[in-house]
Amino acid sequence: MVSLRRTRTSKHVKVLVLSAVLISFISLPVAANAWGPIGHRVIGRIAKQHLSPKAKSRLNFYFGKNVALEELATWADEIQKQRPETAPWHHLRIAPSATSLDMERDCPEGNCITAKTRLFVGIARLALRRKSDLLEPVKFIVHFGGDLHQPLHFGHSQDQHGWDIPVELNGHSMSLGEVWNSAILELNDETEEEFSRRLIRSVTPELKREWSKGTLRDWSWETHLVAIRVAYGLLPTGSPKVLDEMYLERARGVIEEQLLKGGVRLAELLNRTWP
Ligand SMILES: [Zn+2]
Repeated sequence: MVSLRRTRTSKHVKVLVLSAVLISFISLPVAANAWGPIGHRVIGRIAKQHLSPKAKSRLNFYFGKNVALEELATWADEIQKQRPETAPWHHLRIAPSATSLDMERDCPEGNCITAKTRLFVGIARLALRRKSDLLEPVKFIVHFGGDLHQPLHFGHSQDQHGWDIPVELNGHSMSLGEVWNSAILELNDETEEEFSRRLIRSVTPELKREWSKGTLRDWSWETHLVAIRVAYGLLPTGSPKVLDEMYLERARGVIEEQLLKGGVRLAELLNRTWP
């Protein structure tokens, strides 16, 4: 595990409180099925650093030179309202009793993120279709590479991956899903660019080698375990559950590591798509 904890300052605490007030007014439940846009853009920026020359050239072919992965990364969430059939593609709901991933049980009719990502990689890899028909599959891959690492996307079905669990953050009510999706990232006192640069610098060759191993199923189960052990596992009792500083610090560290993995593995997915 890479340590990404940062020293907190009193200034940071003030920003936390002020931001939480703001968040309680501006956070929108429509982002229920995704990392928020910040998470996806950060993952896109990290992934860009690890693309193979072949993957870069395919992306340039589809989306133009100097493609901004971070701009493509949020498209799949933006179209969810117009295309509600795509909503289940962003997550995988695992029963609390599960001890391993069972695609028949957890992903009926292939209608989940793990199966859809595999499907779109297959379509993009064959490249037998017209260029215009491949833009959407590639944009779905770019988005799902990020969502595959949002712990609560692999959470329990009965609580709508955390959106049915009321919590309190700095005196403000929200759902656990919202905390993991966007609230913690929005509390960051760095700019998005500073945050991305710091994360990009922390990917060592060893971490990259380690995180690039495995299959979509392995990554899905690993993300589920993070949800069980941290997102749910460290929750206080009571209702609403009041999140303390310890929970937030741990969640922040885990979220940063998941964003890093998401960036490295999104690049890996694209590199495997066009070997
Ligand atoms: Zn999503």
